[in-house]
Amino acid sequence: MILSPGSLALLVSAYVAIVLNIAFWMRLTAIVQPQSATQWLFIAALAATVVAAFNSVLSLLSLRRILKPVLIAIVMTSASIAHFLWEYGTAIDVNTVHNVLETDAAEALDLLTWRLVAFVALLGFVPSILIAITQISWRAALPTVVGNVSRAAMSAVLAALLIFATFADFVSVMRENRGLATVLVPSNAIAAVAKYAVTKEPVVAAKVRPRGEDARRDAAAVGARPLVTVLVVGETARAANFSLNGYKRTTNPRLAGIDGVESFKHVTSCGTDTAHSLPCMFSGLGQDQFAVHRAAGQENLLDIIRRAGLDVLWRDNQSGCKGVCRGVETELLNRQAMLSLFEAGERHDEALLDGLEARIMAMREGGVIVLHMMGSHGPAYYKRVPPSFASFHPVCASRQFSSCTREQIVNSYDNTILYTDHVLAELIALLRQVTANGVDTAMIYVSDHGESLGEKGLYLHGMPRALAPKEQTHIPMITWFAPRTLQRLGIDGECLHETAEARPASHDNLFHTMLGLFEIRTALYDPKLDIVRRCRARS
Ligand SMILES: [Zn+2]
Repeated sequence: MILSPGSLALLVSAYVAIVLNIAFWMRLTAIVQPQSATQWLFIAALAATVVAAFNSVLSLLSLRRILKPVLIAIVMTSASIAHFLWEYGTAIDVNTVHNVLETDAAEALDLLTWRLVAFVALLGFVPSILIAITQISWRAALPTVVGNVSRAAMSAVLAALLIFATFADFVSVMRENRGLATVLVPSNAIAAVAKYAVTKEPVVAAKVRPRGEDARRDAAAVGARPLVTVLVVGETARAANFSLNGYKRTTNPRLAGIDGVESFKHVTSCGTDTAHSLPCMFSGLGQDQFAVHRAAGQENLLDIIRRAGLDVLWRDNQSGCKGVCRGVETELLNRQAMLSLFEAGERHDEALLDGLEARIMAMREGGVIVLHMMGSHGPAYYKRVPPSFASFHPVCASRQFSSCTREQIVNSYDNTILYTDHVLAELIALLRQVTANGVDTAMIYVSDHGESLGEKGLYLHGMPRALAPKEQTHIPMITWFAPRTLQRLGIDGECLHETAEARPASHDNLFHTMLGLFEIRTALYDPKLDIVRRCRARS
């Protein structure tokens, strides 16, 4: 058989992408559960995308004396990995590489079964022989390279176009099934080995470096009534859909009627996903200096507040605190949700207020309670609210955005904001109660990042920060201070209102504003970044 190098590369790409990835395609089909022609078309488009992507890489390697060894190596490794995925339903990630290298010979022999030998012989060795005996019609060096580059480019463009054409479905399936990419052979193994080579070990918290060791509370602040600040960390809430910020729909009917509520209108997030924003806002590093591993290796705002003698509690109704709450008392309300964000029986965010009053009253010295909401976590927005909050309808009662209109998706999203409005209003009512019982209180609500709802064809979030549209980075921030707290801290309400209306702010301000509210003295505190500072009477 005589083939051109391009045809051979394309054949092998298709073979690996389709045949050796049967486990991937079966898993994808189970997730999408295709019924309509459109859904089958989506799967077909994804298959074509994977073939094109593989072909793009293999085209570049289509060089004399290189092509055949590369193809044989890819087919043999892919077949071996495919066997394990098929047989054990496992996934391949950086921890797999770690485990493989830790495995001793006896354990490895356990895995060497006749089925593996037969599987690899049939799906790896036989195709490898075919590759080896195929005659390739090589052209001169220069035309070969030019041909390779142009085929690689065309394949890459085709893959990009296919992703673009199915973007909404593509993003919703991939985001909700982050593990899916670890089933795709051989890119999963390549990515895992590369990640292992860079980090040398699975990502775990390194030694934690102390920060703010000089932190102590101003003597004048100690001995007064305890001050408790409830810091509500929102999820996927974007500023534009809050009627407090001018949204055309009434999504904040309750907060709009509460005295002392201020909505900061020009606030931006540090990242565009939880994994970046959450550690960033507590790190005090600022968006410019922040890196996940850097923040993980040092103490954060909560540690410093504790060092100053205050209590800290983290209540989580979501998938955990991304390392931020290590070292502080933590209550996980949504264990079920941690296993699968979309199972039935999820607790809605009002559960964060259960027994909260008692927890506040128990804080003798005062301190911080962080409430980590499920908020507007997508794509299953409709699952975030109790049925009585489905005011905007028709909703999108599916995780598959393609089966809904944009209007339905926005309705479902707006219902989550309406529900958040309710939860925050209930929280403020609770804090008023507590104030009457001798504790000064304040609430700060801030979302972790925004969300795209079809603008520019984008959905959900997670775009690289530098490219992210404002929908993903313009976030709501809402404060409420009990009148006594305003007095105690000498905050001028008018000034706070002006600040909220006109001054730009960001996650970078949170660290310093919280230190300022508790009058914690440390060299890390930067009064310029404390957004309340300018409104406090100088003493
Ligand atoms: Zn998030």
